[in-house]
Amino acid sequence: MHLSNDDYYYYLNLLKGFEGEKRFDEFTEKLKEFCLILNDLQLEIRRSSFQIDTLLILFDRIILFEIKNYEGVHYWGKEKFTKLNGVVMENPALQLQKTRVRLELLLSELGCQMKVEAFVVYVNPEFTLLGAPADEQLLLPTQISGYFGNLRVDTAPTEEQIKLAGTLTKLHKPDYPSKMPEYRYDQLIKGIPCTACGALFGTFIGHRQSCANCGKKVNVKNAIKTGISDFRLLFPNERVTSARMTDWCGTGRRDRIFRVLRDEFTAKGSGNARYYE
Ligand SMILES: [Zn+2]
Repeated sequence: MHLSNDDYYYYLNLLKGFEGEKRFDEFTEKLKEFCLILNDLQLEIRRSSFQIDTLLILFDRIILFEIKNYEGVHYWGKEKFTKLNGVVMENPALQLQKTRVRLELLLSELGCQMKVEAFVVYVNPEFTLLGAPADEQLLLPTQISGYFGNLRVDTAPTEEQIKLAGTLTKLHKPDYPSKMPEYRYDQLIKGIPCTACGALFGTFIGHRQSCANCGKKVNVKNAIKTGISDFRLLFPNERVTSARMTDWCGTGRRDRIFRVLRDEFTAKGSGNARYYE
């Protein structure tokens, strides 16, 4: 559907943040054997909620990372950053400080005495921060690799730390109210998405099809599968039926949709009441 301007900018913002987190994951990926990595935690302490981008549990400490994918030149200020074009934004260190305190309170309620360190990580190589004091808890794009290179990670996590990671994961609130725009089935444009760029195909022929938007050759079966998963994500309470998916995929090819459902999903019920899980 067409998003309102506000929703569209919010979406671009989320997309940018997500790309930043993926970039950061490339650094933490190498540490997997030596420490516990928890991503995207939504937690609560005494009714104050807080969100953690990445938490590393090492043998001797816990490190909290707030990831920012900002681009361009910014002037540092204790409370605010100013961009070259005059736009002013909150210094993420303020949020980090709050998050760290809340995490420490939660850990202490869980009986964990480990030391907590916290950093704002600026992952975009095109980011410059002028005037930042050297002792701030921040990692600039050129410092990230060195920081992880120097991190002492030669001792595996203890049983107790594994238990702590499990407890934090259980406390995670996946249903935390998000700011999703309202949408209804009949408002949404139907079709199967290009698996490379997301553009919708209204029709398809054969097993592979070139995307009119990005030019990639796309496997039609995979595109149908992706379309069905999109439906399940957007409408988790609706049944996946062959008729519904044919409409959702917008292609009028019920036989192809049916074959994907039959091969990739489990059929429940029979006759007209058949649906897939
Ligand atoms: Zn495409």
